[in-house]
Amino acid sequence: LVSRKRKPEDTIVNVNGEEVGTGSPTFVFGPCAVESYEQVLAVAQSIKSKGLKMLRGGAYKPRTSPYDFQGLGLEGLKILKRVSDETGLSIVTEIITPSHLEEALDYIDVIQIGARNMQNFELLKEAGMANKPVLLKRGLAATIDEFINAAEYIISKGNSQIMLCERGIRTYERATRNTLDISAVPILKQETHLPVFVDVTHSTGRKDLLLPTAKAAIAVGADGVMAEVHPDPAVALSDAAQQMDIKQFDEFYAELQRFMNTH
Ligand code: PEP
Ligand code: MN
Repeated sequence: LVSRKRKPEDTIVNVNGEEVGTGSPTFVFGPCAVESYEQVLAVAQSIKSKGLKMLRGGAYKPRTSPYDFQGLGLEGLKILKRVSDETGLSIVTEIITPSHLEEALDYIDVIQIGARNMQNFELLKEAGMANKPVLLKRGLAATIDEFINAAEYIISKGNSQIMLCERGIRTYERATRNTLDISAVPILKQETHLPVFVDVTHSTGRKDLLLPTAKAAIAVGADGVMAEVHPDPAVALSDAAQQMDIKQFDEFYAELQRFMNTH
């Protein structure tokens, strides 16, 4: 059902009136994890001041180590909802287990399924039965075919409001945190009718590569770009090394706009 052969025209995903997949890129910015109301609000205000509509932030954090910050959980969802009510931004946030999904739906606008859960088939099926758009990230070591099949799980349950997100894959290369598979973007656009995002933060893990990879994503036809922004990355409870501060975010976004206006 996600195949372009079955449905030649692009799927447009509607997030509270913001149309994703129409040709002009959509941006999803925000902190890695929800840490406090003040932290999320500071980033949200910066996003809003740019005329953007979406805010990301994890309330449930699937961390490599069980001893690392696991997220604020429901408390984090409440913070996101409060900031959304105050700013009008739509909330994109990761859900890690089917048992959290129903409760979370009251607080969020887009269900993010993370790389580590790309083949959590029960979660995919639950998201497929939800009446909300889904942002599905590519697994750490998933082939494009496996990625497309994960989206198929969602659509097979009735939900076609799916955005795919390339977020880098595991290779032997250590210069970047993961290897951004930029060619996945045009391949996914050819093979499926779904909008495709690129997460420049988790793919590179390097602040100095966010701008060039975001430009590359837009140049190859991505429908959206995701990146992490934190008011004070040095004290962030997760991904401290790779999040932009607000000033860096301003510069990043201004440069990206300049690029889009001249290409
Ligand atoms: C995230 O976007 O917060 C995240 C954990 O990313 P990924 O699932 O791609 O690692
Ligand atoms: Mn992160």
